[in-house]
This record gives sequence, structure tokens and C-alpha cells, in this order.
Amino acid sequence: MVLKVLILGGTSEAFALTGRLTGDPRLELTYSLAGRTAKPRLPQVPTRIGGFGGIEGLTAFLLQHEINVLIDATHPFAEQISANAQAAAAMASVPLIALERAAWQPMAGDDWQLVPNLTAAAAALPSTSERIFLTVGRQSLLPFAAKPHHHYVIRVIDPPDIPPEMQNVDILKRRGPFNVDHETSLLREHRIVRLVSKNSGGKAGSAKLVAARSLRLPVLLVDRPVHPGVNTLESVGAVVNRLAHYHASLANRSE
Ligand code: NAP
Repeated sequence: MVLKVLILGGTSEAFALTGRLTGDPRLELTYSLAGRTAKPRLPQVPTRIGGFGGIEGLTAFLLQHEINVLIDATHPFAEQISANAQAAAAMASVPLIALERAAWQPMAGDDWQLVPNLTAAAAALPSTSERIFLTVGRQSLLPFAAKPHHHYVIRVIDPPDIPPEMQNVDILKRRGPFNVDHETSLLREHRIVRLVSKNSGGKAGSAKLVAARSLRLPVLLVDRPVHPGVNTLESVGAVVNRLAHYHASLANRSE
């Protein structure tokens, strides 16, 4: 009896999870990407790329492909697909597991201001011009058009659409992970006085926060959205165990 699993990906955790599950004869995996990144890392399992067409489209996919378990391993700030996954899983009566890395927590020496969303982050920026390291992702820049007097250093994987109001911008096209030495040099080299980031969590993005702590720079951190009622696990290992449990119950039912 094979457990058919659809993994909504686009994160390093989704990639790691898929790698751990690849080759397990109990599972039939399908990996799904939105198609936002020009050269995504692709796992060694069948992969589909592009939206499903909202809740209806995802529900239809789950039913047509007889998916037994849906795993939402998308980014903590990918709100729409996570809401769709919750609704579609309920409509198709398919169990949903969310794999979501833990949020970053402040430590002694951190100067963090937490804000509920990107608009609040832009509003919290001072009225005098500053050199700001903005690492919120290329699709989240629009709110900062409201504060065009700052000089933004923006790090992205693919080229962003910069709002025309934002004239003072340096684009750094780089893919992480970055270590603390790298981040410290970058902050110094660009004479950064403040960081603005999403509280994405995870090891890969945390070096910039360690660098900010050591340089005593303030950080504006956007809080992640919450998904009440979703069975959320924080580690790849926990998801692997949960799938083993689902496979065992499927095998029992079919005996
Ligand atoms: P989003 O706003 O939550 O989703 C917008 C739409 O994109 C969804 O309604 C869905 O289209 C499609 N979509 C998103 N993820 C998908 C997936 N894994 N497979 C198939 N369709 C998907 O998402 P987003 O914030 O633009 O993020 C897009 C992707 O980039 C996600 O997979 C996420 O894991 C990754 N990512 C996001 C961030 C971030 O900060 N938001 C950071 C790093 C990586 P339909 O409604 O047509 O199904």
C-alpha cells in the first residue's frame, strides 16, 4: 500500500524533507512549486510547477491524484497558499501537515522592534534618511515606496521590481546561506544603520541577526502570520515520523 503525498515546497525545509523521503518505497511523492524562482532547486521526485487555481484547483488536484496526505512546507510568509491548503485539505478530506521552522527569538544584546506586517514596518522607519538593509523578498518591496527618502540595500535571488518611488537602491543579487563574517562585512561595507526583515526563522537567514547584534544595529522584524487549527510540526524528522504513522494506518485499513 503506497501513501500518496503532495508536498507544497519552495523552502529549504521542503527540499530537505523531500530528500529524506525520496526512495522510501512506502511513499509516492509529488513536489509542487509556485514557479517564482527562475532556477529553483529541484528534488529527485516528480515535480509540478505553477499555481493550482485557488482552493478549487488544489481540491481538484488532491481528489484527481488520490492524494492521501498534503504537506504544506511553504515559507512562513506564503499566506495565500497556506490558507488554500487548509481549505482544500478540509474539502477533500485529506490530512494536512504544516512543516514550519520555528520563529527567531530575541537574545540579550538584540535591539528588535516587532511589527505585525510590512506596512507597519515601513511606517516604523524614521523620517530622517538612513541606510537600511532590506531583506524582505523581492515581492514585498511596495510598502517601502511610502518611505522613499531612505537608501535601501536590497538582497534578492531574482531581480526585483523596484517601485519607481524608491530611487536610492542597491541591489545585491545573491543566494544564501550566508555566514556571520559575511553578513558583518556586508553591513559594514554598506554602512548599514538598520535592518528590516521578516521573522522567517531557520538557520540559513539568521546570520544577519547575529551580525546586527554584534554591531549593535536595530532590527525591524515583521511577525509571521498564524494559521489556527493547522497541525504544525517544526522539524523534518517529526514530519517523517508522522508520515510513517499515516502509512501504518493506511496499511491497517486496507488489510
Ligand atoms: P502565496 O502568496 O502564499 O501564494 C500565491 C499563489 O501562488 C497561491 O495562491 C498559489 O496559486 C501559488 N503557489 C504558492 N506556493 C505554491 C506552491 N508551492 N505550489 C503551487 N502553487 C503555489 O505565495 P508567495 O508568498 O508568493 O510564495 C510563493 C512561493 O515562494 C511559495 O512556494 C513559498 O514557499 C516560496 N517563498 C516565499 C517567501 C515569502 O516570503 N513569501 C520566501 C521564500 C520562498 P494558486 O492559488 O493558483 O494555486
